[in-house]
Amino acid sequence: MKKILVLPGDGIGPEIVAEAVKVLERLQADGLDVELEHGLVGGSAYDAKGHPLPEETLVQARAADAILLGAVGGPQYETLERPLRPEQGLLGLRSELELFSNLRPAILYPQLAEASTLKPEVVSGLDIMIVRELTGGIYFGKPRGVRTLDNGEQEGFNTLVYRESEIERIGRSAFEIAQKRGRRLCSVDKANVLEVTELWRQVMLRIAKEYADVELTHMYVDNAAMQLVRAPKQFDVVVTSNMFGDILSDAAAMLTGSIGMLPSASLDADGKGMYEPIHGSAPDIAGQGVANPLATILSVAMMLRYSFGQSEPADRIESAVGRVLDQGLRTPDIAAEGQATVGTVQMGDAVVAALA
Ligand code: NAD
Repeated sequence: MKKILVLPGDGIGPEIVAEAVKVLERLQADGLDVELEHGLVGGSAYDAKGHPLPEETLVQARAADAILLGAVGGPQYETLERPLRPEQGLLGLRSELELFSNLRPAILYPQLAEASTLKPEVVSGLDIMIVRELTGGIYFGKPRGVRTLDNGEQEGFNTLVYRESEIERIGRSAFEIAQKRGRRLCSVDKANVLEVTELWRQVMLRIAKEYADVELTHMYVDNAAMQLVRAPKQFDVVVTSNMFGDILSDAAAMLTGSIGMLPSASLDADGKGMYEPIHGSAPDIAGQGVANPLATILSVAMMLRYSFGQSEPADRIESAVGRVLDQGLRTPDIAAEGQATVGTVQMGDAVVAALA
């Protein structure tokens, strides 16, 4: 029996997570062996317990096999001191659980090709997986800071640092994902300028020998940015460092034009993971019942595939989402101008019905 910790969070979080839970309950009824537990994170945890990541949530998270998270944040928390802000709940979970491998698929359902700002023929059917290193690199490297020089001028500095072992574990994570997909892995670096990414490339080449069934290529990050908007369908799996991945995964997400459709996963070395939509808590539409629950529902599919090794129910969820899009169901964020729309609950119900 696998234990899933459900953390709805703030804003639209509880609305979209409720629909994903319905999908899980439907699969449970069909024999999926999971147990759900609920917990608090983000602003709602601050309101109830005075901290965005209460100790009891951390205990629950450590004991769980996977976490399903909605989103955190809201304008009412923006004046709190930094350690008490909702995002600290997320960052705390990532670092406490050592979730170093961030998987960000960019999938464009053919039914939504018009939603992209790129020409439909360039993006229709797009299916890329960006694997971003999440707990190292320049966002965490030391020394860091702003100092005053002898002449009085200020100087800011950060450190881009990766140990071989850190590169190796994200590399292995990416090769294993490529094995479950199209068996092509593109490692993105800046090895022509940065020594640390020269080491990155060497380590990728070394471990590639153990994954002979995966074709490894390398690309400089500037070219990768260009190729992503020129011909994104050339990529299967992309692996890269924390900062490059931050930027490239947002660019890739935007190729699809629908933030409400994209799931994500953050995994540890044993495949335990936190699964969440890439979007935030959307305070502008919270409580209106119009948020798109599909990114959260697709996060459940990722959980089944990557943490539980259950690709059959994962495929089932993804097909069900395809089917509701085929039926013409659209929440407002993915509707074409003038197209009729449905609400969060109707969309969730339609996916559950399409699972049958
Ligand atoms: P956002 O992703 O919440 O919203 C951006 C826009 O997309 C909004 O117009 C919103 O209505 C729309 N949108 C987002 N998700 C949608 C959905 N499922 N269905 C329909 N429309 C959707 O980003 P933001 O407005 O910059 O941030 C709002 C809050 O969320 C902030 O407090 C921010 O810190 C937080 N945030 C949290 C996460 C997270 O929890 N992982 C990520 C990003 C931002």
